[in-house]
Formats: sequence, C-alpha cells, structure tokens
Amino acid sequence: MHCSRLNFHLDALATGSRARAATFRTLHNEVRTPLFMPVGTQATVKAQLPQTLEDAGSQILLVNTYHLLLRPGPEVFRRTGGIHGFMSWNRSVLTDSGGFQIFSLPHARAMSEEGAVFQSYLDGRTILLSPEVSIETQKAIGSDIMMALDHCVASTANEATAREAIEITHRWAARSLAARGDSPQSMFAIVQGALFPELRRESAARLCEMPFDGYAIGGLAVGESKNEREAMCEFTAELLPDDKPRYLMGVGTPLDILEAVHRGVDMFDCIMPTQLAQRGAVFTSRGFLQMRRGVYKYADEKLDPACDCPTCSRYSRAYLHHLTKTGETLGWQLLGKHNIHFYHQLMREIRESILVGNFLDLYQEKRAFLHESDMDNPIREQKAKRLKSTKLGDYEVHKAWEGFASIRQISSGEIMHSRTAPMEEAIRLYIEQSNLADRVRLSATEEPQSAEPLLIWDVGLGAAANAMAAIDCYEEQAALGPVRAVRIISFENDLDSLRLAFRHNRDFPYLRHSGPAAILTDGLWQSRQHPGLSWQLLPGGFLETIAEAPAPDLIFYDMFSTKTSGDLWTFNAFRRVFEACGNRAAELFTYTCSTANRAALLAAGFYVARGRNAGEKLETTIALTPAAVHSPLAAQRELLSSDWLEKWNRSAAKFPAEIEARGHHDFAELIRRHEQFRKSADLERLPFATKNSE
Ligand SMILES: [Zn+2]
Repeated sequence: MHCSRLNFHLDALATGSRARAATFRTLHNEVRTPLFMPVGTQATVKAQLPQTLEDAGSQILLVNTYHLLLRPGPEVFRRTGGIHGFMSWNRSVLTDSGGFQIFSLPHARAMSEEGAVFQSYLDGRTILLSPEVSIETQKAIGSDIMMALDHCVASTANEATAREAIEITHRWAARSLAARGDSPQSMFAIVQGALFPELRRESAARLCEMPFDGYAIGGLAVGESKNEREAMCEFTAELLPDDKPRYLMGVGTPLDILEAVHRGVDMFDCIMPTQLAQRGAVFTSRGFLQMRRGVYKYADEKLDPACDCPTCSRYSRAYLHHLTKTGETLGWQLLGKHNIHFYHQLMREIRESILVGNFLDLYQEKRAFLHESDMDNPIREQKAKRLKSTKLGDYEVHKAWEGFASIRQISSGEIMHSRTAPMEEAIRLYIEQSNLADRVRLSATEEPQSAEPLLIWDVGLGAAANAMAAIDCYEEQAALGPVRAVRIISFENDLDSLRLAFRHNRDFPYLRHSGPAAILTDGLWQSRQHPGLSWQLLPGGFLETIAEAPAPDLIFYDMFSTKTSGDLWTFNAFRRVFEACGNRAAELFTYTCSTANRAALLAAGFYVARGRNAGEKLETTIALTPAAVHSPLAAQRELLSSDWLEKWNRSAAKFPAEIEARGHHDFAELIRRHEQFRKSADLERLPFATKNSE
C-alpha cells in the first residue's frame, strides 16, 4: 500500500506566519503550492479553453462529481478513458465528492447511514449518493485527487447536529477509503465540526488516523462571519499533519485566500474568477473593477497596468466596458481569462515570497489593496454630497469594503484597524482581554472612595477608538452598580487623525460623545455624570512624555508598526515602559505578535503571554510585570513557554532593529535567562501553568 500517493515535499515555511510552500506529484504533473484551482463544474471552466488555463498556469482543475454523475454519467467516462482525454486537459483534476451539492440543494433529499437520496434535477430519477457510488463515479471520471464523501452542515449548526455530521463523516470516510481499493488515485478527507473547536479537533484527529493523502477543511464559507471563518480555518489547519496538503474548500476572494495561506492552507478552489467575469467584474492591481461603470467608456488604457495576461496585453478598458454593456460572450471570456491569470499570479507571488523569506511583507502589501475598489476612479456615494474633505494633514478617511470607516496615515499607508471596525477591535483586543469590566466593578461591600483608581495608559490615541471603548465600558458598569475611579491618559503627538475622524463622526459614531470634543479643545475631559471618570491627553512623543504620567495598571499599546514608528518598538522603549510601571501589577496589551517585539518586551523585564487573535492577527501579545504575574488574574494568561524560546533561538528575525545593529550577546542572555523560561521550583509555585499549546 502507498503511504502517500502524492510524494508531498515541504519546500519552505514562512517566518512570522504559518504560510508554507510545498511540491507534490499527481498522476499527471508536479504541483506547486500554495495554489488555486479553477472550477470546471461541467467538465469545462466556463468560457475558457483548456489551453488558456494551461497558459495561465492552472495546475489542477476542480470538477463536480454530482453534476457529472447526472450528466453525462460515469459510463461515458469509462468508455472514453476518463476526463483528461474527454476535455483535453493534461494536467491534474480534483473531483469533489458531491457531499456539498447535496447540502446546498436541499430539495428532495433524505439522509441515512447508507447515503443521501435525491432526485435528479434533470429527469426526476431517484439517485442514491453513497460513499461507494461517489468513489466509483470519481474513479470512472479518473481524477488525480478524489474527495471522500462527507456530511456537510451549515457552519451555524447547533452542536448536536454538528456532532452527528462528524460521526457520519468519519464512517463515510472509512467506507470511501475501502471503495478506493488499490486505485492509484489520491484521496483527501474532509474535516467537519461547524464552529465547535472540540468537534473540529475530534474530526481532525480521527480522520488523520486513516491513510488519506491530504486533508480538506470543509463546512466553512457556508454562513459564518469572516472572522469566525478565519479563526476556525487557522484552528483547524493547525490540527492537520505537516506532511500532507491542506485544502480549504470553496474559498474565496483573493484576500480570503491570502488570509488562509497566512493561516497554513495550501490549496483553494472557487468559482469567483469566472462567475464575476460573467457579471463584468475583475480583480486588478488597482482594485476591484466593475466594467459596467460609465467611467470606463472612453478609457483607452489596459485593463490592469500590472498584468501581462492575453486580455490586458491586447484590449482596452473601453472595449471591455462595451462588451460587458452589450452582454457579449467575448466580454465574459476575456474578463475570465484575466481573473484566472490574476489568481494564479497572486499564488505565484505568494509562493515566491515564502521561498525567499519575505511572505509577511507581501502579505501586508497585498492586503492593503486587495479589498479596495477602483482606486483611480473611486465610487462616490453621491457627487453632490462631497461636503467635507476626507483628508487632514497626513491622514485620510478610509472606507473598507465591509462598510466601516477607519483612518489611514497617508505617508506610510498604514490603516488603524484595517480589517475590523475600529470599535470592534478595540473591544476585543483591549477591553475584553484586560477584563476591564471586572476591574472597574466593585463588590457591594467595597467603598468607591477607598478603592484605588485604575490608571490606563492609552499609548497612541489615534482616532480614540481604544479610549472611547474604555469609557463606554466604564459607563456601562457604572449604570449597573458601584465602580472604582478610572483615569485614562492618552499619548499622542499628532491630533490630526482624531480631528479628521471627529469631523466625520457620521462614519465614526463612537466619537459622538462629550469626551473627544473636550480632548481636542482642552486636552482634558472630566465626566459630569461620573465624577470618578477622567481622560487626559499628554501631547508630544511618547518617550518624551512618559515621565509625566503616573504609573499605569493597564497599557493599551497601539502605535503604528515598526516600519513607521520604529523607536517605539525597541528594547529601549519597552525598558522605559517597564521602569515606569514601578512595582505595580501592570499589564500591557498590544496587537503585535512579532518575535522581535516579544523579545524586546522580555529583555525589558516583562513576562510575555499570548493574546487572543484580532482582525487579521493570529495572535496578539500581553506583557505582564512580575507583580502582575503573581496576581490572581495571571491564571488566565498563557505565558510563552520554552517552546517559544526554542523557536526564538532559531528565528532569523529575533532581535529588534537597534539590537541587531549594535550586537546582541547581552540581549540574548537576558532572554535565555529570563525567569519566565526557568523550570525552577519557584516558578512552579506561581499561580499559573505554562501551556505547551504549539
Ligand atoms: Zn490581465
């Protein structure tokens, strides 16, 4: 028996990301990942010649077993020698199992242990799709990679339904393997479990015990939010073996794919490139274009200035606009050609960046435009309504595809809270993680006057999302019962971003509050309703003003990244912060999870723990002073373990820039000898357990 039919080889792992590049060999060609598979539902990728796909760099096509089972039927493939000759395609084919179609075409189906019974939408025949029928059909089609039949449920399914579905999926997986017999075709299993981590874990564990050649993450992109999908994708990808391909089914937009590669996935399929082309839409290096728009009527330029696909090298936007307006098939074909090329080009660039070790740079760069619509011809809500300038100083209002607004720094291109609404991220990352509500609330017996005020440093005021989230939290708790006093101190050297957001407070509704107005005019706000709540601005550079602030209990460290504000992510900066905390039990929360930043925090004297994921970040970071490590709250913190230390040792980017530049022996010693990594008796007595979750 073959242990793996694909001869999978891991070529490179990205640094600071779970992205990976691999090579494997199917019955027809060598395949390089990460890769995108165009979808050829009816043994044709709509409106595209196989030759075009080959030229664009398609390595595997996905075809649908369900549709081909109904028409032309497996017998046609048996007699003509399989799909490769049938459609004149010499590279690989992956067949899905039909499970997803049964799920998405819910009429006239009945599920049993045996399989799914449904009626053909062509002639009304009753057909049983069992694991055996699915695999026999896939064998007849002659694909390179078959999928085991799975039972897919909505990602929003309740736990009992989701559990039942994984149980059936596991039994069907075993039957699918048995039905394959000694066929040389590869077979992937599909991990299910909806949004329940424990079910995902169990599903992955049981399927990984069986000799599959690869694993797919199923049951996503069917009803959950983007954040839920990304979190579950990351969680599931980590459960899968390193030495087999990982495939996220039915995903997605170029940005979705980029995000999933970052989370450790190798293979993708989606109908989008051709479906969007039919609707006149294309992805380009200048954003997402809808070719019906009148702005392209006289546009004599290339569709995408950065693309060398056959469409872009020959046809103008004006012509493609015309073909789209008239509904001509050629328009669909030409736009489809470009979209497929765009996807493949993106995958090639991703792979290259993983191989040369700069995937994270590419990730940041691509993410900044992949969810933009046409940057050169922005869509205005109503031309007459352009009341206020959307720019001020070095900042502009940025509208995300998803509808929310944030502030972008023009010089660096960095967006504050680029992927989730500013408030949502502020709450998730800073308010909830710091247990602010619990810290503010007093028990009935405590006297508000006798409780110490809680001091929050808001480092990087920006558009005030974090400070306002803290104020909202306080006001909520104060409405419920007794609370302790809270003082917020914001550090900021450039108030333009807050000023700009404040002018556009229709887009930043959290700023409709008396606080931001007072901060902008007086640099100080005292709540009238709650005498214990105050907010103060320390204008100027953080490192220059740090000495003016009293020692904090909580620090929300939300500065622009190392690229833009390098001096605030140094050993020196964190040393200053650490010293400013004195002996207080203080905790610092920040969005970064970079190895060098964590190292700088450790060397500065903090203990460092993993923070929850937020927006596009897989992990964030929490730093604790030694006094905080000994406080009861620390039991909730997941301190970096010796595993991290080993990873740090091997990392190519382990030092902050200033240390890298001036020699790092002493710095390295500070980290290696850090109390956090000592397995001493002392450490074991601390009220927390280090977890080895990696
Ligand atoms: Zn093109």
